[in-house]
This record gives sequence, structure tokens and C-alpha cells, in this order.
Amino acid sequence: MLNVKNTILDSLLAVVAPHLCSGCGQIGSTFCDNCKYNIIDEPISACILCEKPSSQGVCADHKTAFNQAWIVGMRSGALQRLVGGFKFRNMKASYKDLADLLHKRLPQLPHLTVFVPIPTTPVHIRERGYDHMLLVARGLGRLRHLPVEQFLVRDNFLVQHRANRKDRFAQAATAFKVKGIIDPNSTYILLDDVITTGSTILQAALLLKQAGATTIWVAATSRQPLD
Ligand SMILES: [Zn+2]
Ligand SMILES: [Zn+2]
Repeated sequence: MLNVKNTILDSLLAVVAPHLCSGCGQIGSTFCDNCKYNIIDEPISACILCEKPSSQGVCADHKTAFNQAWIVGMRSGALQRLVGGFKFRNMKASYKDLADLLHKRLPQLPHLTVFVPIPTTPVHIRERGYDHMLLVARGLGRLRHLPVEQFLVRDNFLVQHRANRKDRFAQAATAFKVKGIIDPNSTYILLDDVITTGSTILQAALLLKQAGATTIWVAATSRQPLD
């Protein structure tokens, strides 16, 4: 019964929420300027994989196919409510806020840049009714006047969020394949929602590199260490 009530409440929130900031509850927008400012104003200068200081977003301790990375912020407070509502409470309109936050966090990008969203498992797309990272990627592409390409496709459909660290790396190794022609002159920016162990983006970046990409960067809406 509680679940049914929650579902009804969530549906109601999804209708009402376009007028409420999912960060602070203020009336007027889905995520207010103040909440955005507070997040972007917080400088991020740590490795997204181990949190050691790094101006590149990824430190020299890891062998990665990407050499720059950005996150909007740590998964806490207003950003946690925004990402959570978007992923788990059908607040579809939040894609614009997350795209805007990524837009504000990212530096000026090379002319030949392509955004590549991490693909969502079909079961989650069905549950949500939308491919959440594809929406964010397209929103960001519009803001930056840059293309979005779905070069990565799901090759297995395991659900990651209940898996431990070891399982995540094993699953990620077979999760995707590359579809399409990679241009070695382009910069590819992988877009993900939440970075935990980094297993997904490490594997995705490696696949792009094996397919011929020479410059691979990563941008994610938040980071939440597994432990
Ligand atoms: Zn707010
Ligand atoms: Zn590191």
C-alpha cells in the first residue's frame, strides 16, 4: 500500500515539481539560480577516481584512456536531490538543469567535440520513460552547439547499483560495444550521471580508444564514492 501511495505522490510531484526547485524547494523553477550558483561556485580540483588533488580531474596514478575529467559536484545536498529526482522520481524536466550545470562546469571545448552519453539499460529506460543521460547530453549539445553521438551501445543488461566494487568492474568489462565510425581528430566527451568506482567510464573510454579515438575526456553530473 505504501508503495502505491509513493507512486501516486511521485507522479503528483512530477507534475507539481516543474515549479519547485528540487534543491531548496523555492517556487519558480525546477532548480533555482541560487542552488546552481552554490554548486558551480565550489571548485572541483580532485581526481574523480581517488579524490587526490588533480587539476586535470584524473591523477597520474591510474591508467586511463581519458586524460581530463570534470564533475558538477559531489552527490550531496541540492545536487543529490536533483540527480535523485531525475533518476528515481520521474522528474524528467531536470535534464535541462543538469545540462546547464555541466555547461557551466565545462571549459571552452575544441571545435570538433562530440558528446557521447553512457547508454542506459533498457529496463531503466522503460521504468523512467526516458533515457536520462541521452536527454542531458542533447541538452548540453544544444547549449554548446556541439553534436551528440550514441557511439556506445549496451552489450549486456546487468543492473549495477546493487553490485560491489569487484562485480562492477567485471560487469563493465562486457557492458558496451562501439557502434559507428570514430574520427581521430575529434575530442570525445563521455557523459555519465554518477561516478562511483569509475568502472563504467574506464571501460567506455577504453572502448572508444580501441575504436580509434585519440582524445577522450569525461564529464559527469556527480560523484559518490562506493565506500
Ligand atoms: Zn534552489
Ligand atoms: Zn586518482
